[in-house]
Amino acid sequence: MIKSQQGNQVADYSKLMKRQSPESSATIKKQIHKRFQNRQTIRELYQQKAWKTLVKVGSQTKGLYEEYDTIKVQGQVLSVGDSVLINSGDQHDEDYVGTLKQIISIKEPTTAKLICLCRIQWYMRKSEIIKSKPKCSEWISEQELFITNHQEYILAQSIISSCKILSCSEYQELDEIESTIYFNRLEWDLQKKQFGNMDSVQQFCFCFQPVNPDRQYIQCDSCKNWYHFECVGIKNGKYNQKEFHCRKCQ
Ligand SMILES: [Zn+2]
Ligand SMILES: [Zn+2]
Repeated sequence: MIKSQQGNQVADYSKLMKRQSPESSATIKKQIHKRFQNRQTIRELYQQKAWKTLVKVGSQTKGLYEEYDTIKVQGQVLSVGDSVLINSGDQHDEDYVGTLKQIISIKEPTTAKLICLCRIQWYMRKSEIIKSKPKCSEWISEQELFITNHQEYILAQSIISSCKILSCSEYQELDEIESTIYFNRLEWDLQKKQFGNMDSVQQFCFCFQPVNPDRQYIQCDSCKNWYHFECVGIKNGKYNQKEFHCRKCQ
């Protein structure tokens, strides 16, 4: 026993601790220390916008971390699996596009404010792809997206709205084009900067390119192949003859 300043007897914790096995006391100390550290770090990580580390630390801290199936953004209920438009900041004029993979909230311990984060799988747009593949500009549609294997956490508040991503054939069947309807047929490898599954896409015309739904095509009445207006010399976007036969079939 040791004496407190007031002269009262107080328990000697160093002796009490010794009664437990040394391993378990060390573990408890470690856990308390870790929890305290995590609470400190959450604020710092939030300020640093280090979302990935924040999720890691948050998920290890009891009572501060939760996952959800849906989230309400700008009055719209979004679910895991939905495609979304994301604010790209001031330096880009196009919104980013991705698929919602995970919805997480982490309570910031000092203010008790909820930090809401979403894990997003990214799509690339034409403007990004043609930086490394300028020749592909001819066949890539303005509404075409390229799926990547890159996932990242973002603040839920940077989500603008949901959007639709169709297959190429579904997109071609649309009667009207809308700015929030996209299509995807190809993968984009961000590391190698090349398409992942180009073999799966059919090529058309004498120029041998994947179909671009933004351009006009005519079908040959003999071979049934499709050709760009420009590649078979059709001008002004009009063809008045009843039948068309390509130069191979004439
Ligand atoms: Zn062509
Ligand atoms: Zn033909």
